[in-house]
Amino acid sequence: MKITRKEFLTIAGLAGAGVGATKLVRAIEPAEPMTGSKGKQFGLVIDFQKCRNDKGCEQCLTACRLAHNIPQIPEPAHAVKWIWKEPVDKVFPFQQNDYTRQMFSGHVLPILCNHCADPACTRVCPTQATWKRPEDGIVMMDWHRCIGCRYCMAACPYGSRSFNWVDPRPYIHPETADFPSRTKGVVEKCNFCEERLAVGKQPACVEACAEKALVFGDLNDPNSPVRELLRTRFAIQRQPELGTGPSIFYLV
Ligand code: SF4
Ligand code: SF4
Repeated sequence: MKITRKEFLTIAGLAGAGVGATKLVRAIEPAEPMTGSKGKQFGLVIDFQKCRNDKGCEQCLTACRLAHNIPQIPEPAHAVKWIWKEPVDKVFPFQQNDYTRQMFSGHVLPILCNHCADPACTRVCPTQATWKRPEDGIVMMDWHRCIGCRYCMAACPYGSRSFNWVDPRPYIHPETADFPSRTKGVVEKCNFCEERLAVGKQPACVEACAEKALVFGDLNDPNSPVRELLRTRFAIQRQPELGTGPSIFYLV
């Protein structure tokens, strides 16, 4: 079901919501840097209208799983997730009302680590196993340094990190030699395909989406495709009021 931006804003009560709307809807001016950083801040824009996840499409999820040796563990409590899908109600619990809940019933969206501008997860890590890369804003993980304390999981307000409760390797099908597998006892999450970016490729999820619903780029570059979309379309982030500065935007 398609809705116009005006319909969404009217129904969601955002059009005249004043301060609340400022937090929820970001129209970014060309010269306004997304972060205090002078370097890049990679981000992802997901077009709510183009994404066919609700029709069962899982191209982005599959591409990520194959590129990163993500195990398929049947026990839900042990699942490892880098990009996955959730109902709209759950992704945006505070941006819903009775009308939008009806409208978006059954819709699901891909979600992943927000590669926050000011991530809570990195501050609590006692071993610097996770950090924000200054040159491009990617929130990285070094599995060799991770001691499995899970402080980062407790700190992340988005549930974007997974813990390897069991040895993941028996659950990787097929396994690629191009990316390391992890071991029991470490935390992992989306890395924005830093290994692909390093050789000039787009993230696997972006490349795999036939609908071109995912657009990746530098949020600090006023001429980037992501900035062009954010300049011309309305976008919402997951819980921006927490001050984490999510770098994933959903176009409505
Ligand atoms: S979404 Fe969570 S794991 Fe990802 S950078 Fe933000 S706080 Fe860290
Ligand atoms: S689980 Fe690993 S990455 Fe997370 S805070 Fe502990 S040592 Fe750091």
